[in-house]
Amino acid sequence: MKGTYGSQNSDKGHISMRVLITGGAGFVGSHLADRFLLEGFGVVVFDNLITGRVANIEHLFGRDDFHFFKQDVTEYLHYTGTIDAVVHFASPASPIDYLQLPIQTLKVGSLGTHKALGLAKEKGAKFLLASTSEVYGDPQIHPQPESYWGHVNPVGPRGVYDEAKRFAEAMTMAYHRYHQVDTRIVRIFNTYGPRMRPQDGRVVSNFIVQALAQQPLTLYGDGSQTRSFCYVSDLVEGIFRLLTVDASRAKKSVDDESEEDIHWPVNIGNPGEFTVMELAHKILAMTSSRSSIEYHRLPVDDPRVRKPDIRRAEKLLAWQPRITLDEGLKNTIEYFRSL
Ligand code: UDP
Repeated sequence: MKGTYGSQNSDKGHISMRVLITGGAGFVGSHLADRFLLEGFGVVVFDNLITGRVANIEHLFGRDDFHFFKQDVTEYLHYTGTIDAVVHFASPASPIDYLQLPIQTLKVGSLGTHKALGLAKEKGAKFLLASTSEVYGDPQIHPQPESYWGHVNPVGPRGVYDEAKRFAEAMTMAYHRYHQVDTRIVRIFNTYGPRMRPQDGRVVSNFIVQALAQQPLTLYGDGSQTRSFCYVSDLVEGIFRLLTVDASRAKKSVDDESEEDIHWPVNIGNPGEFTVMELAHKILAMTSSRSSIEYHRLPVDDPRVRKPDIRRAEKLLAWQPRITLDEGLKNTIEYFRSL
């Protein structure tokens, strides 16, 4: 059937592998949908469109190998066709969003992860969880390896996201250990690129939108806090490899082997570390903006530093980011200019 929107009559045709992406209308989810389709997978998207947007996937409507369902993944999930992998990306992900949607954020990380894992188990499908560098909280180890357990305030305002994702990781490992689901966990560091919402609230989109509008850049704190920014195509490549890697081959390339290695979390991010002040100046220069910098209060529990240790991704997936911050910002500025 053509132009599928909300119908589950989808199990015919020639598709050999089908991926279900929760949150597939979001910034990262929609780029993943494009990539899997490009690789010959069929793609099913479940998204309740709270922070996702139809505009991100509209170009895919009408394809036989793509199906979209407006679906809240904290409710019981059903799909009539075969599913080879469930990729769980549904969640508000910008601090502004999850502070405005605290209960939904906790629910999608907990109930939503449980439902998505249940669907994967039912279908005999692989499962990949979108986790986050926020599981490290305000880190006391720098850069952050996957073995670091983190420094999270469970009752602060960011706790709704951090703890939901930490619970989601624990639930994913439980389904792997007790139900033998073939699971993967990616810990995603700050990512940017086309399809970020202009009002998303994250630093890259805020600064670019403000610079292009000749409005003051809203710098939180003194700008000395650091982040490491990964362009979205690099992230998508890492996620694609993590899901499709031959687990037995990947295991052999790891020195400190363990039974469950490929199932343990993998950081995907760009280790290039910048202060938020450096980012502001870079964006001002690249947009030739006359905007000033306006100082605002630092949000509660805003991490001082953040930088991924990516040695596991290098060993397991032969993955490294390719796009420099300058290159990625150039594309992202072009995107926001075109809106
Ligand atoms: N930030 C900022 N101005 C903004 C938005 C964010 O200075 O308009 C800062 C924020 O306080 C944090 C960093 O930029 O230190 C990255 O924030 P973002 O919301 O992008 O993601 P986070 O890494 O905090 O999850």
